[in-house]
Amino acid sequence: MKIIDLRSDTVTKPSKEMLLCMMQAHVGDDVMGEDPTVNELEHYIADLCGKQAAVFVPTGTQANLVSLMAHCGRGDEYIVGQQAHTYKWEGGGGAVLGSIQPQPLDFESDGSLCLKKVKANIKPIDVHHARTKLLCLENTHAGKVLPLHYLRDVEIFCKENKLASHLDGARVFNAAVKLGVDVGEITQHFDTVSLCLSKGLGAPVGSLVCGSKDLIREARHWRKVLGGGMRQAGILAAAGLYALKNNVQRLAVDHDNARLLAQGLAEINEITVEIDNLQTNILFISIAQNSHDALHVYLKDLGIIIPAGNRVRLVTHLDVDADDIARVVMACKKFLVEHKQTQSITDKQNIQSLY
Ligand SMILES: *Cc1c(COP(=O)(O)O)cnc(C)c1O
Repeated sequence: MKIIDLRSDTVTKPSKEMLLCMMQAHVGDDVMGEDPTVNELEHYIADLCGKQAAVFVPTGTQANLVSLMAHCGRGDEYIVGQQAHTYKWEGGGGAVLGSIQPQPLDFESDGSLCLKKVKANIKPIDVHHARTKLLCLENTHAGKVLPLHYLRDVEIFCKENKLASHLDGARVFNAAVKLGVDVGEITQHFDTVSLCLSKGLGAPVGSLVCGSKDLIREARHWRKVLGGGMRQAGILAAAGLYALKNNVQRLAVDHDNARLLAQGLAEINEITVEIDNLQTNILFISIAQNSHDALHVYLKDLGIIIPAGNRVRLVTHLDVDADDIARVVMACKKFLVEHKQTQSITDKQNIQSLY
């Protein structure tokens, strides 16, 4: 039985072709700058993003952290979304390891930060305040794509206010594919960009930071300090190169599959589908209170893995195809028919026991 795992796009396994590239990779010591495959990957992504340089790191968390530390020093501040991965889901690394204070703000419903609110939170230069240095955005955020005109405004805003800018672009290729533009159209508006190879692109490990030579030199320094200097990392970089050359345009398939899933689940009364928020490969649904635990277990027995809970996130990726989506929808429909029957039987028994 094929397992269908909808918890995240991080769960993908490397394909045979990808593994072959990894096996055949030329390698060297990357801390000494001598791994030809890592160097090729860094040049390749820097070109795609229209930046001078890039650095390969093990995880997206480290990519964001070395970026923060490249921009900010002790006692500096960065402005970030309240629900942003960098702020909420990375253990507070910027504060813990970088001595950088976050100033979180609520995201607007489209995943942007309101620039008026950002402006109001830039601290005056004064001994009392941390020094506001950096604005950090996320694209996609919860699957939502930031509009290009907003990104243009962000660039102008940061210049006017002397802020540096960082984009957490873990899924920036989903955004580019959705907009039908080269990824450089998005990344050009930011000083640094982090992106993940291990999500929808399907590599087993690896993230990248792109930016100017100076900023990447700093990021590379902090990568070593944080323990991210890997040696014959070309084996991993080869997977990343394969992913960038083969798996970008197909992200559109994941977006189509997410839509299929949304349409199928929307036919079920006990499930509320947040169709208005669906733009890429991430779908949020709510399952009726009295059914969600049982549904979670029922699906698991059928080899379908979704997160536990009432409101859950379902993510499509390259190990899930349209047939799998049909299987998930069928299973949910079947469950709710059966679940209703058992419910009405227990309800009847409960009523009978009253007499
Ligand atoms: C996954 C993700 C990251 C990085 O996560 P890692 O698990 O450390 O690779 C960063 N930002 C966003 C928005 C993400 O979704």
